[in-house]
Amino acid sequence: MADLVELYSVGQFTMEEIERLVGIRLARAVVAQHYPLTREQVVHHVDGNQRNNDLVNLEVYASQADHMAVHHGQAVEPVWRLAGLNRT
Ligand SMILES: [Zn+2]
Repeated sequence: MADLVELYSVGQFTMEEIERLVGIRLARAVVAQHYPLTREQVVHHVDGNQRNNDLVNLEVYASQADHMAVHHGQAVEPVWRLAGLNRT
C-alpha cells in the first residue's frame, strides 16, 4: 500500500478515496482465495460498504459494464458469489 500512502501525502487522493481503493484491493484478494478472478472482472460490495470485505458481501461481475448495470438497478447475474447464498 506504500504507493497509495504516497499519493495521499502528495495530495492526489483524499483519505476517503484511499480507503475505497484499499477496500477494492482487499476485496479482490479475498475473492481470489475462492475464485480465479480475471483482470476484466469486477468485485462488487453488495451492501455498498467498500470496507466490508466479508465473503457474503462480495460478488463478481464479468465486466465493469455489468457492474455498473447492477449499480443502476438492472438484474445482472454475477459470475461468482459465495455458494449457498439465497439472494434474489
Ligand atoms: Zn459495486
